[in-house]
Amino acid sequence: MVEAVSGVSRPLVLLVEDEAALVTMLRYNLEKQGFRVEEAADGEEAMARIAEITPDLVLLDWMLPVMSGIEVCRQIRRRPATRDLPVIMVTARTEEQDTVRGLNVGADDYITKPFSMDALLARMRALLRRSGAVPAKGQLRFHDITLDLAQHRTSRNGRPVHLGPTEFRLLEFLMQHPCRVFSREELLDAVWGPGIHVEPRTVDVHIRRLRRAINGPRERDMVRTVRAAGYSLDTDPV
Ligand code: CA
Repeated sequence: MVEAVSGVSRPLVLLVEDEAALVTMLRYNLEKQGFRVEEAADGEEAMARIAEITPDLVLLDWMLPVMSGIEVCRQIRRRPATRDLPVIMVTARTEEQDTVRGLNVGADDYITKPFSMDALLARMRALLRRSGAVPAKGQLRFHDITLDLAQHRTSRNGRPVHLGPTEFRLLEFLMQHPCRVFSREELLDAVWGPGIHVEPRTVDVHIRRLRRAINGPRERDMVRTVRAAGYSLDTDPV
């Protein structure tokens, strides 16, 4: 799962690779680019790790001990929980036929060793954008809530959310500063504008509307009320 810290998404990548030197190099570079990295050195371990950590993307070596990358990919696609998990096959083979075989068992993309880090990152980012794990440009994302600034649209878990203009600005501001508590006065200044005379209780009214709009029946309340302090966008409601 993507972890949002101060509004920055850090997608979790599972690296399935048995060459220790390559693992070290990839981990170093991916972490530098803001990814979180977990490892598995063979196919069986890969399946166990996937069930355990729910990665956002799997970088899957073709030639693996115990169970081949092809078989791992097949199993990922067979299980309902991982059917849509983005998979990039990493292969040392260049034969066209093998590539086709990789895509046939359900890999989303493939890259041939040796590859440049830039090429790999471009493919990873494209896939993660498609799966919604990282936001496209002009979008804010907090857990399952996406706010599209250009199109002025909001969605939660893929479901469109209809917000009034004030609720939209309120959510936009909170999404720009997730996990931070703002007082009613601070929210008035930021959302309504400084010097605008509005009752602090007006904030409560709009927070209530925002909650009604973004929280579906079985969804977690993402707006946290902090007694005597104000509100924050958070996943740990008290
Ligand atoms: Ca290998």
